[in-house]
Amino acid sequence: MTVGGEELAALSAQLEKKSPRDRLAWAVERWGRDLLFTSSFGAGSGVLLHLWSEVARELPIVFLDTGFLFPETLAYRDQLQERLGLTVEVVRPAAAREAFLKEYGSNVYDTDPDFCCQHNKVDPLLPYFARMRGWVSGLRRDQSSARKDTPILLPTEEGPVKIHPLATMTAAEAKAHLAEHRIPEHPLVARRFLSIGCAPCTQAVAEGEDERAGRWAGKGKTECGLHTVLKPAGRTS
Ligand code: SF4
Repeated sequence: MTVGGEELAALSAQLEKKSPRDRLAWAVERWGRDLLFTSSFGAGSGVLLHLWSEVARELPIVFLDTGFLFPETLAYRDQLQERLGLTVEVVRPAAAREAFLKEYGSNVYDTDPDFCCQHNKVDPLLPYFARMRGWVSGLRRDQSSARKDTPILLPTEEGPVKIHPLATMTAAEAKAHLAEHRIPEHPLVARRFLSIGCAPCTQAVAEGEDERAGRWAGKGKTECGLHTVLKPAGRTS
């Protein structure tokens, strides 16, 4: 079904009043196998993974293994996959870590993190963006100032409509959800890694800092590009 930007805005407003679970169920109902769910299996990922296991367990979760992840993240993925009965589809960059570093420099993630993210994080997912109609991810408004205006639904120019079921959820609510459903947290959260991506670009945050302050710290970069590569638009499908 094709709807215009105005209808999408109305739907987004309606979904604003729904629970995260109901928003996700709405997206699954609407897009089915054309709904892309990417998870980093990082800090806080457990909430959306748990909801997914309740409303869409038969659908795959795309996990991007950049080759630079913490071993704890891979172990956490395996743990949640088994605990929640998830189907995980692993996607990797065209050039694996060693070949990539040999070609572009052993510290390219420091010298040119935008290029590194483009190759290792954005490019592998472009085929999914081209063919999927909805894309669910776990962005929350309270994660950082850059995410404070995250809408529930966001159409993109040529890619899928983005849906953010957890947009209104706070960090405290996410923590309570994990406790209530006995979902383990990423093991590095206990060491104050509150947003977890690739190891070379992730560090612990101090009390009072934004959750994402430990990502690309000191590099003038706040997003890998996955959530900015698709330009917002007035269309949806
Ligand atoms: S987060 Fe760092 S290591 Fe990972 S792709 Fe981006 S720049 Fe490279």
